[in-house]
Amino acid sequence: MTTLTEKLSTDMSIHNLRRMFYLVTPSETKFSTIEEVPNYTDQVTGWFFLLMALEYLILWLKNKEDGFALNDTITSMNAGMLSQLLKFGGRTGTVCLYVKFYEHYRIVDLPWDSTWTWVLCFLTQDLAYYLGHRAIHEAGVFWSFHQMHHSSEYYNLSTALRQGCVQELGMMWFDLLQSTIIPPQVFLTHRYLNGLYQFWLHTEVVGNLGPFEYIMNTPSHHRVHHGRNPYCIDKNYAGTLIIWDRLFGTFEAERDTEPPVYGLVTNVRSFNQLWCQFFEFKELGYDKGQMKTAEGEELFPTFWDKVKAALYPPGYFPGVKTKWFFTWLCMKDSEEGIPQIEDNVQKYNPKIPFWLNCYCALHFVMLLGIYVHFSEFRTTMPTSHFVLYIAFLVLTMQSMGAFLDKRSYAVWLEMARCFLTYAYLYMWSADGANGSRLTHAIWGSSLALMKVEWEIAVTRRLPMKDGANQTADNHDRLHIGCRSKVDEAPSGLIVSSSGERDDATLSYSQISCPMWLALISIACSANASS
Ligand SMILES: [Zn+2]
Ligand SMILES: [Zn+2]
Repeated sequence: MTTLTEKLSTDMSIHNLRRMFYLVTPSETKFSTIEEVPNYTDQVTGWFFLLMALEYLILWLKNKEDGFALNDTITSMNAGMLSQLLKFGGRTGTVCLYVKFYEHYRIVDLPWDSTWTWVLCFLTQDLAYYLGHRAIHEAGVFWSFHQMHHSSEYYNLSTALRQGCVQELGMMWFDLLQSTIIPPQVFLTHRYLNGLYQFWLHTEVVGNLGPFEYIMNTPSHHRVHHGRNPYCIDKNYAGTLIIWDRLFGTFEAERDTEPPVYGLVTNVRSFNQLWCQFFEFKELGYDKGQMKTAEGEELFPTFWDKVKAALYPPGYFPGVKTKWFFTWLCMKDSEEGIPQIEDNVQKYNPKIPFWLNCYCALHFVMLLGIYVHFSEFRTTMPTSHFVLYIAFLVLTMQSMGAFLDKRSYAVWLEMARCFLTYAYLYMWSADGANGSRLTHAIWGSSLALMKVEWEIAVTRRLPMKDGANQTADNHDRLHIGCRSKVDEAPSGLIVSSSGERDDATLSYSQISCPMWLALISIACSANASS
């Protein structure tokens, strides 16, 4: 069984490090079949962690710890894991389709082992990335596929891992354009390398890189891409080469006088993984079409108007000028309707007790270990296990998000998660089936603790559920940016004027139970593995 530490130690080769900067030669990245192409993303996990730690150390030495927050980083890394969960052994739906398209529609047979084919694909993959990336920013509801990547108010290496879990569905069509000429194994290699190159762009530690900035995409250029300042909107879509932005008129240099402020135009202000991933589909796909003016008139009255609301640029409203680019409409003036940055920028960062941070961090490390195990064996495990793993991983992410958001239901979700995990271990694990004393003791004490917890919660009349649902009512709101626009905090949150949630919603008694359960779960796994 591959453990997290074993995996990390095998990842740490200079070979793998070079791949993260596209510093490879054609000869060492040529493969005769698509099956031989390694999952490069999977192989650099160790470097991801080391470079993130190094970046944090530098920020700390520079007294810039506010460039990092544990809750934000956990959410970003959970998003990275979630986006990988939907891929099978690194061979995504795109790759399967690509192979089919290549078999049926290729117009030329380029040799897979030619350096020229390699160089050509370096360029076509980068152009396809530019087009796909631009489309999922500008083509209406397609923005929902990608907004997750921009939803962090921080800009550090962990932001690179914050990926939309269904983003693939929005970008694949542009990758497939290459299937008319590029052999699948060459395409897949460059697809990995192009994605990995973008990891190091997500940092504020690297400044201007001089002449390098003319041709290559750099941290400075990509900071602009993540900015929500009006001048940053819909700019610098590049993957590896910035030349595409310069060519198609979407380039913008970073301004020292107006440094980028990161995040969505109106931030989502939540660490609820599934909410962050999917809320925009409803907002752009439905809510926008239902909006009304202050007088109560519909902004998009007819069916066709509602289709326009969903498929025209996210910032589109009747009267706003648009223009065609490739196959979609984009804004003529990308700054139109984008608000200026507020004077006193307050990042969403609810404070939770130190030991609860430790609890979340501990479970996050455990989650990473389970994820590594899952990714190692997911192609060979039975479907029932596959589904259970995904359910466990998603439930854990949701529970963690609820704690980080200081949700009143967090403790109940966590208890349900622990309960279900114990039930699984008790009923199906080898140790549970044998019914050892320890397992029975754990089972019994878990139930007893939950019972005690329930009594405490009821007698103290603590909030047991959240009020309204999370759907923001947009009907009477007119302002909608090119980015997301949830003006209210999702339900169940008690937000003070400073953006901090009320601590009363999360008492010690509510949190104590999961702490105990966590300790018991560690004892349980230690017992199961002994
Ligand atoms: Zn983007
Ligand atoms: Zn980015």
